[in-house]
Amino acid sequence: MQSFEWVDAKSVEQAAALLSASNTRQLVIAKAGGLDILDLMKEGILAPARVVNLKSIPQLDDIQFDTKSGLRLGTLATLARISSSEEVRRNYPALADAAAHAATPQVRNVASIGGNLLQRPRCWYFRNAQLHSSLPSATALRDAQMQYHAIFDNTHSAMVHASTPATALVAYDATVHLTDQRGRSRSIKLDEFLLAPDAQRAHDAAIQPGEVLTHVTLPPPAPDARSAYYKQTERDSYDWPICDVAIALQMNDRTVRAASIVMGWVAPTPRRARKSEQLLVGKNLDESVAREAAQAAVADATPLPKNAYKVPVLETVVRRTLLAAIA
Ligand SMILES: Cc1cc2nc3c(=O)[nH]c(=O)nc-3n(C[C@H](O)[C@H](O)[C@H](O)COP(=O)(O)OP(=O)(O)OC[C@H]3O[C@@H](n4cnc5c(N)ncnc54)[C@H](O)[C@@H]3O)c2cc1C
Repeated sequence: MQSFEWVDAKSVEQAAALLSASNTRQLVIAKAGGLDILDLMKEGILAPARVVNLKSIPQLDDIQFDTKSGLRLGTLATLARISSSEEVRRNYPALADAAAHAATPQVRNVASIGGNLLQRPRCWYFRNAQLHSSLPSATALRDAQMQYHAIFDNTHSAMVHASTPATALVAYDATVHLTDQRGRSRSIKLDEFLLAPDAQRAHDAAIQPGEVLTHVTLPPPAPDARSAYYKQTERDSYDWPICDVAIALQMNDRTVRAASIVMGWVAPTPRRARKSEQLLVGKNLDESVAREAAQAAVADATPLPKNAYKVPVLETVVRRTLLAAIA
């Protein structure tokens, strides 16, 4: 690993100013928990000249809830704190479950929500230093080991977004807030912020050089809101998912008024099952409607030769998560 300069940032603006000086010869990167950047540095994929530590900036880890304005997660709030927050668990149970089921206790104690959303793909070709710089197209990789890759939107890139909390955050219609070195702030919906991997970009997200992600907000839950999250893994101990699903419903008794169904680890970004959402509106959600909605969720899947098994797994997980939401 090449040596690098370490800077403890004192403010968001200072961190943003330091990050804006980054260029291809002198790479400057932000560090939150440092888990993903350390992995990438050890793998020889990332070699920064300067690391800007965000953990020295006060109050970036606050978690606040208000019935009128909703939830505010400071970028440095860890997955462990999000999963154990009483207010998150009561008002956004799918997010609490997604945070609780990510990784291991040690990782959750360190991983920040901002860093989690900005982590790079877990694709083993992307993470291989020999293949990384000349990453072949998804088409060229069709015969490769793609069993954990995307079953939707996989023509340009078949890598899936690694963040599992993102699945729940998109279901709750989360917004990401960013600040630049002049203190100017902007906000963007998380489902527009997350982007498919592209060799030309350093992040799989619409973050500009010199911007710091400061916090994530969620609207307040509707009085009749129901939600659920499920992560399907190969083994019962900690594991990356085959797929995960988060569902947020607004109900009138047992009738669905509005639905948000988000499927993770099956496309380059968390994917809304829009046809299923439309199909549910105005219906009484029971076993047979859940089955119909789950079939619609996978109807336009385009699996690769080695990952067609993900289609029935995903269909089952959508059906079970729908039923869990109204249980
Ligand atoms: C064994 C293991 C299992 C795992 N399982 C899961 C899982 O099931 N689900 C899951 O979602 N993840 C999982 N992970 C990944 C882990 O959750 C992420 O590596 C972690 O969340 C990254 O957060 P961090 O704070 O350490 O980010 P960092 O490594 O500090 O940063 C990640 C990226 O974000 C940038 N960044 C961070 N904060 C900011 C900011 N505020 N503004 C601008 N840029 C910023 C950094 O520059 C870097 O590019 C697993 C990891 C391990 C090691």
